This record gives sequence, structure tokens and C-alpha cells, in this order.
Amino acid sequence: MIPELPRTSHYMQFPREILIGTDVATLVGETLKRLGFRGPALVVTGETVLSLAGSTVLGSLNRVGIEAETMTVQSSTTEDVAKVEERVQEMNPDVVVGLGGGKDIDVAKLGSMKAGRSFLSVPTTASHDGIASPLVSMKGLDRPYSYVAHSPMAIVADTSIIDKSPYRLIASGCGDVVAKYTAVRDWKLAHRIKNEYYGDAAAELALMSSRVVMKNATTIRAMSEAGVRTLVEALISCGAAMSIAGTSRPCSGAEHLFSHSLTMIAPKPALHGEQCGVGTIMCSYLHGANWQMIKDFLQKIGAPTTAKELGIEPEYILKALTMAHSIRPERYTILGESGLTKDAALKVATITGVVEQ
Ligand SMILES: [Zn+2]
Repeated sequence: MIPELPRTSHYMQFPREILIGTDVATLVGETLKRLGFRGPALVVTGETVLSLAGSTVLGSLNRVGIEAETMTVQSSTTEDVAKVEERVQEMNPDVVVGLGGGKDIDVAKLGSMKAGRSFLSVPTTASHDGIASPLVSMKGLDRPYSYVAHSPMAIVADTSIIDKSPYRLIASGCGDVVAKYTAVRDWKLAHRIKNEYYGDAAAELALMSSRVVMKNATTIRAMSEAGVRTLVEALISCGAAMSIAGTSRPCSGAEHLFSHSLTMIAPKPALHGEQCGVGTIMCSYLHGANWQMIKDFLQKIGAPTTAKELGIEPEYILKALTMAHSIRPERYTILGESGLTKDAALKVATITGVVEQ
């Protein structure tokens, strides 16, 4: 739980250990032991992930004598979180392990926090920065955006598992990282216009992550171990930036509001990072920044840059652009307080080639 602090104070929570590289999933048990956990452990995961990586992780727990039970989740809703809480009451584990993609980790993260247990993150994909951050996004809450829960005690990111995930998820992760290019610009703007707290260290760390993925587009695209590791390290840096800031501000601006809006209204939304990437192209244009550079990078990485490639009808792109300012009014961005007009939305979408003229 985040402690109550005086208004001018600041609280930061970080993972204590991060293991990254090939076959580190075999070290989950040892990591828990080293951190002082004795078990039992509750492993929260998904059906597919369980068959892919379950035996490695459960085997590693078994080897060090930590008893474990698994529970699978299908989605990341408040009911899934409640189920984790219930299970914690029943079995009384001293740690919860989130094994899987974004939703499995989010459910484990929030469920463990609510049940007052520590949490270990074992990501099997690199599709967004939630794998390493203290934030969660949930379906069924009153807000469609993410908010602060708690940081994992440790992250065990096995690149030999992550590089077997579909390439689309890797490309999506790149979209979520490049989004920091406009997120930080929005944060600076809110600082100037609204005197909102702004932290240069967190901002620069987030920007550095976006520069790193842009610089390493070729190795990431090749899905080489080095490329996957670079992306995962960039996602971890984004998580650290949010930990330092104590908010998602350095990592989430108008491009995220656009993505959240699309998720709310599109009949078939694309992946979070894919939508954020396209949002970053358009928000870069609004900021007068280098939108072409963002578009070139996303094309190079093989991520969507148009409505068509997202598989979303242009009308939803335009609607999301005009409503994005309203879904989180306290988050001031380049969209301002009244948002884009329909004409302005059409203009930014067509100039950047997201929507065909
Ligand atoms: Zn994101």
C-alpha cells in the first residue's frame, strides 16, 4: 500500500531484483528464496502460457521446496482480481507470481496488492510497459486508463520465452515505448500550463527508452536475443520512470488517451501498443514535433501506422481523437481542455496518413 505522505513529498517503489536473459525462468524459485519468501506461492497465469512456461516455473519452485498452486485467468476484469483475492484468503500464500502477458500480470499485480501480498512478475511477452511498472489497467472499473497499484518485488524476464511470442506483440511493445516521445511533451506542457509536478529525471529516462528502441529497430525486428532484450530493458526503464515519477505521466499522454478512447469505442480494438504508436504519430504532429520520424520507425518495426493496418474504420479514429481529452480530464495534454474539433481531427489524421484522404 502507498503510504500517506505530505502533499509536497514523494514516494518511489521499485523492484528489488531483475533477472533478464535466456533461461532465467528456471531461477524463479531461487529468486523467491533469495528475497526471503518460503512459500507457498500462488501462480496467476493464462491457459496458453501455462502450457508454454508453466512447467519451467513450477519446476523451479519445486526444486527449492516452495509449494505452489496455479490459477488461470481469461481476462483482466475486477472479477478476476476478486478471484485472486479469494484464492489468497483460502491458501494464504506469502507471494503471488504473475506469469504471462499483460492481463495475467495486471490481475496478479492488483490482486496481490489488494490481498496484501508481494508480487513477482514473470512476463512471457513484451507487448507493453505494465510488465515492469507499478501500474495496472483493468476492465470493469470506472476508468479506462491505468493507475498506480504496486511494483513487483522482482521481474524475471526470460528472453528465450519472450522471443517465442508472436512478433505482433513485440511490435506492439515498441509502439508503447515510442509513445514516451509525446507523453513527455504532454507532461512538460502540463507543467507549464497547470503547474503540475514535473520530474526531469523520470522524463529523461522515459525519453531515453524511446530513443533506444528507435536506434535498435533493426535488431528488434530481427527478433534476435539482443533485440528482444533491448526492448524488454526499455520497457523496464519505462517502469522505472513511472516509479520515479510516482505516476504514469512520463509514459502516458494524449497518445494513450487516444488509445484508451479507441479501446472504448472501436468494435474490434487493436493492441494497446499498436494504438499508442499510431496515436504518437498524430500527437507528434499536434506538438509540432517530428511525426515522420515516429512513422518511419513504426514502419521499420512492422507496427501499424494507419487506420487500415490497425483494422479500425476511420470514423472510430476520428471519434477517438475528438473524445480523448474527455476521458481523463485531470490529465492535461496537447488536446487541451476542449479537445480537437472534428475538422482538426480529420486534418491531423489525413496529413499524417493515418486516414486516407
Ligand atoms: Zn502504455
